Amino acid sequence: YSSPLEPSLLVNDVEADAVEALMTTMQEHAGLCQRYFYLKARLLGLERLGSWDLRAPLLNVPDRKFTWEEARDLVASLYRNFDEQIGDWINDMFERQHIDAEVRKGKRTGAFCSTWVEGQSAFVLQSFNGKLNDVNTLAHELGHAAHAYHYTRAQNYSNCHVSLCIAECGSLMGELLLADHLIEEAASAEERQAILVKVLDGFMLAVFQEGFRFLFEHSLYERMEQGIELDGPEISKLWRVAQNKIYGDAVEWLDGSEWDWARFPHHYFASMRFYNYPYTFAQLFVFALYRMYKEQGPAFLPSFKELLSAGSSRSAAQLAAELGMDISSPTFWRKGMEQAEVFLRELESSE
Ligand SMILES: [Zn+2]
Repeated sequence: YSSPLEPSLLVNDVEADAVEALMTTMQEHAGLCQRYFYLKARLLGLERLGSWDLRAPLLNVPDRKFTWEEARDLVASLYRNFDEQIGDWINDMFERQHIDAEVRKGKRTGAFCSTWVEGQSAFVLQSFNGKLNDVNTLAHELGHAAHAYHYTRAQNYSNCHVSLCIAECGSLMGELLLADHLIEEAASAEERQAILVKVLDGFMLAVFQEGFRFLFEHSLYERMEQGIELDGPEISKLWRVAQNKIYGDAVEWLDGSEWDWARFPHHYFASMRFYNYPYTFAQLFVFALYRMYKEQGPAFLPSFKELLSAGSSRSAAQLAAELGMDISSPTFWRKGMEQAEVFLRELESSE
């Protein structure tokens, strides 16, 4: 291999220049991340956000409950308004009873979508408790199902193993459709804020938290190449340096949390180098696509469906090129940041 990054590029079917453009854009927008965390601190009545509050929900948010039927009708109608064929396929999932959402003793937690190539359908598992989060999970997993309905029809079995970098195209698109709908029809300012915080928390985590970890790992290999010996305290120092590059002064860290790196198993396995960037990639990729959808409207749909139908037959770079975009240029990734900026401005104006 020509670099420690290369094995993961092969596994994820991406090129080094795309990851470089992605990470350049991520660092360039550290200010966006800091603006959000300062704002979140204010919304929580704090001067500065502690690292323990990074994912904290807002206080006094009305606890909106959904019945299964309400959640089903809402998610199905959002997908149908987006695209009629996707709407039909989502209905097919419900009619086949391929969604195991019942809460019962002994059932495993979490949620996933399992694809079924021969039957050209999918199965979803989740535990539906009627919370907003559960509706979001339903939209997310059905987005994976819609993705699978596309590529299992268009591709042979060997092209049905979608890389992590583009695996969230259906699911995050569904989440964003739901978020925009809920923001629009929120019954109160508090409810709207809570939805925006949920979307932005997820975005910041995937883009900037996973992103700084990439910078950290990169700095480790740089030191090794220079022949510098790395012991625990030195690695912890590099962890903090990378963290500060992104979060600046916006977040307060607990003493000792610079040792956080030590608890992630992938740092100990040579086969799991650069484990984090696909999450940054996937999130910003879909935010960019969603921005394009908002700009182009229904005209965006045919090429997006083409992307979903590609499965793993083409790389992310090829798929983006078919949409007229170049992922080796920060211009593409900045589109994703623009969409995050839209949500952030809306939250700022709600203060
Ligand atoms: Zn997913």
